[in-house]
Amino acid sequence: MKINNLLSHLGIQNTNYGSCFGKDCWISTNNQHISSINPTTGETIATVEQTSNTSYKQVIGEAEKSFLKWREKPAPLRGQLIRDVGNLVRENIEPLGELIALEMGKIKREGIGEVQEVVDICEFAVGLSRQLYGLTMHSERPGHRMYEQWHPIGPTGIITAFNFPAAPWAWNAIISAVCGNTVIWKPSEVTPLTAIALQNITNEIMSDHKEKAIFNLITGTGSDIGSTLVNDKRIPLISFTGSVKTGRIVSTQVAKRLGKSILELGGNNAIIVTKDADLKLTSEAILFGSIGTTGQRCTTTRRIIAHKSIINELIETILDKYKNIKIGDPLCNTTTMGPMISQDSINKMLQAIETAKNNNGLVIYGGQQLLDLGPLFVEPVIIKMNDQIPLLYEETFAPILYIMEYNDFDEAISLQNSVPQGLSSAIFTSNLYDAETFLSTRGSDCGIANVNVGTTGAEIGGAFGGEKETGGGRESGSDAWKGYMRRQTVTINWTKKLPLSQGIDFSQKEID
Ligand code: NAD
Repeated sequence: MKINNLLSHLGIQNTNYGSCFGKDCWISTNNQHISSINPTTGETIATVEQTSNTSYKQVIGEAEKSFLKWREKPAPLRGQLIRDVGNLVRENIEPLGELIALEMGKIKREGIGEVQEVVDICEFAVGLSRQLYGLTMHSERPGHRMYEQWHPIGPTGIITAFNFPAAPWAWNAIISAVCGNTVIWKPSEVTPLTAIALQNITNEIMSDHKEKAIFNLITGTGSDIGSTLVNDKRIPLISFTGSVKTGRIVSTQVAKRLGKSILELGGNNAIIVTKDADLKLTSEAILFGSIGTTGQRCTTTRRIIAHKSIINELIETILDKYKNIKIGDPLCNTTTMGPMISQDSINKMLQAIETAKNNNGLVIYGGQQLLDLGPLFVEPVIIKMNDQIPLLYEETFAPILYIMEYNDFDEAISLQNSVPQGLSSAIFTSNLYDAETFLSTRGSDCGIANVNVGTTGAEIGGAFGGEKETGGGRESGSDAWKGYMRRQTVTINWTKKLPLSQGIDFSQKEID
């Protein structure tokens, strides 16, 4: 689709308001604008007015008001609204995927995959709307019943990163909404247009259901409006997706006001390749894991830990794949890798390559800027690392693949677990012992551990998140919904007596 047609199809103008609580409820206070820049060309796609203090107050006020009503709606009826959101997103899957490619720079096929994830989570949430179950327990007291129930927690703040402009919103907003909360989304200031397009879709559905302010949008920089949201006592839960550095600030500020946070922070993910791995399968997973989204996924494969007996053959197999990568316009169907997001990201990548080279690292593929294609294009790089240097403990958000070798399996696990982040991990092996050891308590310490499946591209049905500096949060499937609700333990006495727990005798008789 032509860019102008694409934008108008999704309800985006040249200049847009960035604060909203429903259809015809976009607010303007003449605040400054941010620009959404196409990383492929460097051109401004459109501008968005940032949320001011006044518009912030209005959005939060509406979200609070709407929460009081929405929480009373039976969950299965809330699910019907979510089902309609999912259907409208499905109808727009192609243009939304294109918009993500245009604004963020991931290839269109991945953009569409990201929108599919939004549809999938809506379907999951519809089923969830008939569950949200609690447990019952046996009481130690006769004639008593105990159970736990889950209530919506309140208006939820969602702050998201640039590299997934749609899916993490859905993991949080859709699940939180089906739980009975209203949500206030602060997307990355780098990708506000995808957020506006999704807000337009939820606006349509809220209006069809005679609702508003269930899904709300505020826009602007993290240090400004993001920080306002994080410090707002009316918001009991902040779900934050972003770097470890920002996550530290956000979690400290939320903890200071004794709010709850869900943290989805950076990763530094490795694949262990044992001597009996299927190298064809392994290299396919490594290719998608290392250059998908131009190496800018939290689950990007950044480290390969390969047994010394197969490392050379593995490198040859990976190189064969790397040589066929097509770098270019992410909207072109044959492209496999688009641009990076910013000059700052390019600088960090080039700096990391220099550091590796200065520390006994050997560049075996790529790493050059491709200025002919545009200022933000680079070749992905493969570096053979002979020493464990501090660089390997950092997440450089770029298509950098470090390869290192191991001798015995315990050493491989220890290398895999040596980094401060704990998001995703994988092993490629046909050895049952190694696979099970990797999954055992002395194996991977990450939130995600895969066998013969790469580190990236998780399905929505499982709980997504990581340990250590990745923040410990869980989102999306399984029982991650519990993070958006408050748990209440209930004891009911249906007798005429009041026995105390632990057998305490509190009668007024005299005690010798
Ligand atoms: P970032 O930390 O720079 O920004 C993330 C968000 O935080 C943005 O919306 C930004 O505006 C906001 N922000 C910045 N300062 C803030 C403040 N003081 N208070 C409140 N909000 C603030 O991250 P990024 O560059 O957009 O994204 C890349 C990072 O995100 C990588 O580290 C990546 O691994 C991580 N990430 C993690 C996951 C996950 O699920 N674990 C998913 C996607 C991205």
